Amino acid sequence: FARRHEIQVVMLPLPAQGHLNHLLQLSRALSARGLNVLFVTTSTHINQARHRVQGWDLHNFPIGFHELPMPSFSDQQPDLENKEHTFPVHFIPLFEALEDLREPFDRLIQSLDRNRVVIVHDPLLGWVQTVAAKYGAPAYVFNCFSAYFYAMKEKGLGLPDCVVSSKRCLPLSFLDFKSRQPDYLRLAAGHLMNTFRALESQFMREDYCEKPLWAVGPLLPQSIWTAKKGSTSSDVESCLRWLDGQHPASVLYVSFGSASSLSRQQLQELARGLEASQRSFLWVVRVADSARFTASDEARMDWISELLPEGYEGRIAGRGFLVRNWAPQLDILSHKATGGFVTHCGWNSTLESISAGVPMVTWPLHSDQFANSILVARELKVGVEVKKWTKADENELVMAEEVEKAIGRLMAEDGEGLEIRSRAKELGLAARRAVAEGGSSFKELESFIHHFTSILDERNND
Ligand code: UDP
Repeated sequence: FARRHEIQVVMLPLPAQGHLNHLLQLSRALSARGLNVLFVTTSTHINQARHRVQGWDLHNFPIGFHELPMPSFSDQQPDLENKEHTFPVHFIPLFEALEDLREPFDRLIQSLDRNRVVIVHDPLLGWVQTVAAKYGAPAYVFNCFSAYFYAMKEKGLGLPDCVVSSKRCLPLSFLDFKSRQPDYLRLAAGHLMNTFRALESQFMREDYCEKPLWAVGPLLPQSIWTAKKGSTSSDVESCLRWLDGQHPASVLYVSFGSASSLSRQQLQELARGLEASQRSFLWVVRVADSARFTASDEARMDWISELLPEGYEGRIAGRGFLVRNWAPQLDILSHKATGGFVTHCGWNSTLESISAGVPMVTWPLHSDQFANSILVARELKVGVEVKKWTKADENELVMAEEVEKAIGRLMAEDGEGLEIRSRAKELGLAARRAVAEGGSSFKELESFIHHFTSILDERNND
C-alpha cells in the first residue's frame, strides 16, 4: 500500500469521555501520518468527541465521524448524592447495552471496502473481533489502561482491600476481559498501549496473548510541551488569565476527571484542606448528581456555592479559582504557574500530568485509578498519595488534614518535595522524547502502521 490514504482505519471507542479521548488522540496521530480515519460512536458521544477536537487542525489532518444509534438501556437514576466515592454508576446500564452496537457496526464494516479496512477498538468491546473476523479485517485492541494496571491484575498483586471489596470496584468486573470476553484476545491482530517504554517497560508483557504489542504513548498534542494554548473559549480564557497572574509552579490544579464527582461531605473536607494548605489552587468542582450536569451554568454555580463551607469563596478570593464546568486541562497542566495536580488518577489525567512534568497528589476514586495511584507514588515516585488505602471501608472520607498534609509534602521546597518535582520534570522530558521523531513511541506507531499495511498488501496481492 504505497498510498496510506487509501486505507480506512475505523476506530470504535467505549462510549465514555475518558475512553473516547484515547482513540481520538490515536486518530489524530494516524491522520497526521496520512491515514484515512473514521471515528465511530453513538450520537451522544459524537458530540462529546466533536467538543474534544475543537481547536485541532482538522483541515490538514481530517477525522471522519460516523454515528451509531444509541442503544436503549434502562435510564435508572442512581442515588449518587450520598455516596462517598462515586463510580459513575449511570454508565453501567449503558455498558451492559453495548452489544446492541454490534449490528449497526457490522452493517458499517460490510459497506466498506474490505480489502482496505483496519479496525481499532476499546478492550471492553471484545465482540468487535468477531465482526472483524467475519469480513477478514485486521482488528487491534487499544488498551486505555496503564501497563501497571494489567500487570497488577495478572498477578493479583497490590490492590488495596478497599478497592477489591467495595462498590468502587464495580467496574473492575467490566475490566475482567478474559472471563467476559474469552475469544477476543485470541482473535486480535495486536495490542496498542497508551504508554511509553521509559515509563512502564518493566510492566509491559511482550508475550501478551502472543500478539504484537506496541507502546505508542503518550498520545497528546504537542501543545503540552510547547505551552501553546490549544483552545480559546471565554471561560477557558478566564482561568488561564488567572494562572498568568500567579507565581511559577505555585498553583495546585485540582480535578477528578470528566465523570466522577465527590459527595457533599467529601467536597467540604477537600475545600477545607485546600484552604488550610495556604497554597493557590484552581479547582474544577463537579457535583455528585447527574441530574445537575444538564443544569444551566448559573444554576450549577449557585448549587456548588451552597455545597461549599459557609463564606468559603470570600475567604479564598484571589488565592483560589473555582471552575464549574469544563476546564482546559492540557493548557492548565502545561502552564508555568501550575506546580502540582490533585488528581483521581484516570489514565488520561495521569499521562497528561506526567507529560507536562507536573507532580501529583494521588486521590483515586475507583477502578484502575488505584493502580495508577500506586504506580505514580510508589513506583515512579512522582507524587504522594493523599492517604494510604488499606481498610475495607468504602465510605471512608479523606479528611481535610490529610489533604493539607499531602499538599504540604508535595509542594515542600526541599527534601521529598524537591526530589519528586525533579523526577517529574525528567519524566516529562522522557515523554517528549518518546513521541519525538526517532523516539520509542514514534517508532512503535510506525511499526504498527507497517503491520496492518503488510497484512492488507498481502491480501491484495493474493
Ligand atoms: N478533562 C478536561 N477538562 C475537565 C475534565 C476533564 O479537559 O474539566 C479531560 C482531561 O484532560 C482528560 C479527560 O478529560 O483528558 C479525563 O480522562 P481521565 O482518564 O483522566 O478520567 P475520566 O474522566 O475517564 O475519569
